[in-house]
Amino acid sequence: MRNRAIELIKGKICVITGGGGVLGTSMARGLASEGVITVILDINEEAAYKVATEVASDYGVRSFGFRTNVLDRSSLEEVREKILREVGEIDMLINGAGGNSPKATTKLEQITEENLDQLEDGFFGLELEGFQKVFDLNFNGTLLPTMVFAKDMVARQKGVILNVSSMNAYKPLTKIPAYSAAKSSINNFTEWLAVHFAKVGVRVNAIAPGFFLTNQNRFLVTDEKTGALTLRGEKIIANTPMGVFGEPEDLNGTVLYLLSDMSNFITGICIPVDGGYSAYGGV
Ligand code: NAD
Repeated sequence: MRNRAIELIKGKICVITGGGGVLGTSMARGLASEGVITVILDINEEAAYKVATEVASDYGVRSFGFRTNVLDRSSLEEVREKILREVGEIDMLINGAGGNSPKATTKLEQITEENLDQLEDGFFGLELEGFQKVFDLNFNGTLLPTMVFAKDMVARQKGVILNVSSMNAYKPLTKIPAYSAAKSSINNFTEWLAVHFAKVGVRVNAIAPGFFLTNQNRFLVTDEKTGALTLRGEKIIANTPMGVFGEPEDLNGTVLYLLSDMSNFITGICIPVDGGYSAYGGV
């Protein structure tokens, strides 16, 4: 027999920021397969429309795509009004927009005696602007949509928010300090907001995906020309007890669990979906 809490998710409306990306698309498909109406928001307008069109036609459930910049409050307010007008009240929000950039990535993993003459390739070569951009996209890009979309949830005393964190929230990977700091802040914010909303029926949780091969990390873990794993890619696999990169669909069970009433008494947690990465000490 199907779980009743999952049955109840049918027909609910879920906004997915960054929904045009790899993981967002997969989450949209997973939710649509359970009858959820998805609203795909992405700064890449073409991707948002394409995903929405394909999801609607593949699952026979309504799906909408709108261009939105998660860092621009007026863009978010505008799309909120459009959603209320054309789709309905928002039941769920997935804050999926995020990513890293080469501009906030050091070339060196560590400073050593041998590379003391290359300090600019490490921490000292980072430019505040690049750092700020990545931090803002991941952190403010979660904060702002929540400010705009959660107000209606609080007013209705019902809603679920799911933030997308990362393994970097627990232990930062070398080279990407801005991304790590932002994802760590997302975990802290998830706990803070969960407490803040706990008495008014709005739950706030997060997932921390392990390693999935997508556009944001492809340049770090595979060789651009040959497609072979870089040393970093090999290290990731060696530190993932299951020995593989995750498939985007691997997130869908946890997403459904945290969004549905199955997790009715759960708020303020972050679930790793990582093939054992966060459990492994490397030895
Ligand atoms: P992706 O690059 O495929 O998707 C990110 C999407 O966000 C893109 O479609 C992009 O256009 C959109 N976006 C970027 N800036 C935006 C803005 N200002 N406003 C609106 N949309 C914007 O990456 P992905 O791997 O699918 O990542 C999705 C989320 O998962 C991100 O938060 C990422 O940090 C997180 N994550 C990914 C991995 C992984 O292994 N790929 C691991 C852990 C966490």
